[in-house]
Amino acid sequence: MTSADNRRTGGAGHRHGAVKGLVQSHQPSLNESLNGEVQAFLTDEDQLHTYDDLTKVNPVTPTTVLQCLQARYSVKVFYTHAGCTLVALNPFQPIPDLYTLDVMKEYHCAPQPQEFKPHIFIVAEEAYRNVKGQLEPVNQSLVVSGESGAGKTWTSRCLMKYYATVAASSVTKSQDTVERIERRVLDSNPIMEAFGNACTLRNSNSSRFGKYIQLQLDRGQLLVGASVQTYLLEKTRVSCQPANERNFHIFYQMMKGATAEQRREWKMSHGQHFVWLPNSERTREEDCFHETVKAMVHLGINAERQKQIFRILAGILQLGNLNFSSSMDESQPCDLEEQTKDFLQRAAELLCVPAEELQTCLIVRMLKAGKQSVLKPCSQAECSMRRDCLAKVIYAHLFEWLVTLINNSICADESTWCNFIGVLDVYGFECFYINNLEQLCINYANEKLQQHFVAHYLRAQQEEYVTEGLQWSFVKYQDNQSCLDLIEGSPISVFSLLNEESRLNRTSDAKTLRFRLEKELHVNSNISWDKFSKDPHFTVAHYAGKVNYQIQGMVEKNKDPVPAELIKLLQKSEDPLLHQIFSDKETESPNSKGLSKVTVVSKFKNSLESLMKILHTTTPHYTRCIKPNPDCKPLTFKKEEVIMQLEACGIVETITISAAGFPIRILYKNFLQRYGLIEKRSDFKPWSRRVDMEADDSVFIRQEVEKLLHSVLQHDDVDPLHKRENEKHNSWVHCGRTKVFLTQLMLDLLEDQRKKI
Ligand code: ATP
Ligand code: MG
Repeated sequence: MTSADNRRTGGAGHRHGAVKGLVQSHQPSLNESLNGEVQAFLTDEDQLHTYDDLTKVNPVTPTTVLQCLQARYSVKVFYTHAGCTLVALNPFQPIPDLYTLDVMKEYHCAPQPQEFKPHIFIVAEEAYRNVKGQLEPVNQSLVVSGESGAGKTWTSRCLMKYYATVAASSVTKSQDTVERIERRVLDSNPIMEAFGNACTLRNSNSSRFGKYIQLQLDRGQLLVGASVQTYLLEKTRVSCQPANERNFHIFYQMMKGATAEQRREWKMSHGQHFVWLPNSERTREEDCFHETVKAMVHLGINAERQKQIFRILAGILQLGNLNFSSSMDESQPCDLEEQTKDFLQRAAELLCVPAEELQTCLIVRMLKAGKQSVLKPCSQAECSMRRDCLAKVIYAHLFEWLVTLINNSICADESTWCNFIGVLDVYGFECFYINNLEQLCINYANEKLQQHFVAHYLRAQQEEYVTEGLQWSFVKYQDNQSCLDLIEGSPISVFSLLNEESRLNRTSDAKTLRFRLEKELHVNSNISWDKFSKDPHFTVAHYAGKVNYQIQGMVEKNKDPVPAELIKLLQKSEDPLLHQIFSDKETESPNSKGLSKVTVVSKFKNSLESLMKILHTTTPHYTRCIKPNPDCKPLTFKKEEVIMQLEACGIVETITISAAGFPIRILYKNFLQRYGLIEKRSDFKPWSRRVDMEADDSVFIRQEVEKLLHSVLQHDDVDPLHKRENEKHNSWVHCGRTKVFLTQLMLDLLEDQRKKI
C-alpha cells in the first residue's frame, strides 16, 4: 500500500501517548471542549505544530484539533491534512515562496508528494495522477468549501495556476493573435470576478455566484481547454446593495479606469454620483479595469464587443438614478422626478431603446384580460420595482452571455480531450440575522455537498468494516437525508410548497405558506417554529446548525417576475448585443399574471442536480478553507470562529471517523509478501508452520498473519504501556475476511521491524 493510499483512507496514526479506540472514547461536546480542561494524555503540546494530519493528534477532540491548528498557524503553517480532507487556514497576507513555480515543480516531480508538507499542491497533484487511473482514466473533482472570506476563490485560482503550469502544452496555438489556452483559462478568472464579485462586509472580493470549472485534459494529460458552469448569481446586488457593501466590481472599475473618451461615450459627467455605486471611495480599481480589459482581449472579445458591454453597464447605472414622483390620482401614472429625466434620456440612448417607450414600460403595466390587454398605471413603489427589475434582468443575462462567450473561447473541441479535473468554488453555509430564499438555496447546496461527502468517504469507510466482518461500534455521523427530504423531497417539501404558492399568486402568501409548512411538514423533525414570533418564519436544522428563514418576500423572490413589456422593449433595442441577448427570450408569459413557470428554486434545484450527477462520476477531493478571524486580519486566530467552521463543515466528524478506524488495509497475501520475512530475524521466536505463498487457503494465510502480528506485538521493542493498551482494547489490529486492518502505529511498528531484517 502506498502512502497515497494511506492518505486517501485517512492516514490516521497515534504515534504518541496511549492508543485509544476512539469508537469507545468520549467525544466532548462543543461547549465542554471549549470550556473544559485539556485532557491529560494530550499529544505533546510543544510538538502540536508538527502534526501535519489532524487525525494523528491524540485524543482527537474539537479542543485538540483546534489547538493543533492554532499552533501551526502561529508558526505560519497554513495547510493541515484531516484524514481525507485538506484544511486550509487563510493567512490573510501574501506568503512569499509558498506558491512559486519552483514549489509547484517540486510537488509535481516528487515520487511521493504526500510525504511533503501539507499543501494545496498535494491535492492538485494527487488528482492529476489519479486521472490516469489504475485500470482506466478517472475524472476528478476538487471541492473547495468554506465560509465567505475563507479563501475558496483564492484556492481555486491556485489550483488552476498549478494545472496551467504542470499540464501546459508545449505547442503554441496556431493563431498568433489568440493567447495560449492556459493563459486564456486563467484569464477567465479576472473577467468573472469583475462581473460576479463584490466587496461585502465579510470579504472585499466576495464571489456572488457559484462556479464549477472543468479543466479538460488530453490523452497526454495536457491542459487543452476548460468549461465553466455558474450558479445563482446574486443579481439583486445590481439595484440594492446592503449597508456598507458595494455593487459588482466592474462598475467601479469602469468609473475609476475609464478614459475621458470612454466617459463621454458612457454619458458620464466627471464626478457624477450614481445611486447604485455606494462606497466608491473604498478601494482603487484603476489597474483592475485595465486587467479586465486585457483579459477580455486575450479571450478574443474585440474592441467593438467591449464597447457594447460597457455601454450596457453604463445604461444600467443611469437607470439607478431614476426616481418617480407619486401620483395623487390612482388612475394616472406616476411621473419621473424632474431632475432625473436626464438620466432616463441617457439610459435610453445607452441601451438603444426609445426613451418614451422606456418610460412607459416603467410606469404602466399591461394586464391581460382574456384576449384583451389593459394598461394600468403603476404605483410609485411598483415603478421603482420595474426599474430594478429591468436592471437585474439585463445584468443577469449579460453575465450569462459572458460565461457562454468565455466557454466558447476556452472550451476544447470534444475530440481533443478525454478527461477533466473539476474545481468547485461554491458559497459556504450561511446563517445571518435575516435569512431568505438566497440563504435557503445556498444552504440547500451545502446540504447536497455534505451528503455527497458523507456518502463518498465516511459511509464507504464504515461499510468496508461491515463487509469485512469487523466488529465496529459505528461512529455516529449525521445523515442529512431527512433535512434534504424536508427541503426538496417529493411530493411535499419546502420547495414544492413554495412553488405551489408562487404559481397560485395569492396576496397573503407569507401567512398561507407559513400555515401550510406547519400543517404539511411538521412530521419532519428538521423543521420547527417559534410560536411566539410575530413574523412568519420557519427554522431548519441543517447539518451545520439551525437557520431561521423569514417567509416574508420568499414567494415573490421565488417567482422572480419579469414583466413581458420589459423583455419586449429590450428585444427592440438597436444595440446589437442587447438585441442578441434577448432575441430568443420568451415574452409570452405562460399565465395571465405575467409569471414564468420556472421558479428560482426549481431552476436552482435542476442545476444542482446536474452538478451532483457530474460529481458522482468523479473522484472527489475535499479542501475546507477556514477563516481564522472575522476581520480578515493577518495571522490572527480566533478559536470560537474556527471551531464553528470546523463543526459547520463536518471536520471534527471526519477526523473522528478517520482516526477511530483502521486506515491501513492490506490484503493478507500482500501483507505476508511485505512482512513475512520479519520472522527470519534471530530475535523472533520461530514459527511452527511455513507459509505457502501460493496457498489458496485464505484461512491458513490469515492464521499466519495473525501469528506474525502477535509476535510483533509481543516483541521486546514494543513499549510495555502500548502492549497493555492494545491487549485491553484490541485497538491496533483487526483481521477481516480478506484484509488486515491496521492503525498507523501498527504499520510504523511493522516497518521498524522490517527495516531490522
Ligand atoms: P467568498 O465566499 O466571499 O467568495 P472566498 O472563500 O472565495 O469568499 P477568497 O476571496 O478566496 O474567499 O479569500 C478572501 C481573501 O483572503 C483573499 O482576497 C486574499 O486576500 C486572502 N487569502 C485567501 N487565501 C489566501 C492565501 N492562501 N494566501 C494569502 N491570502 C489569502
Ligand atoms: Mg469567492
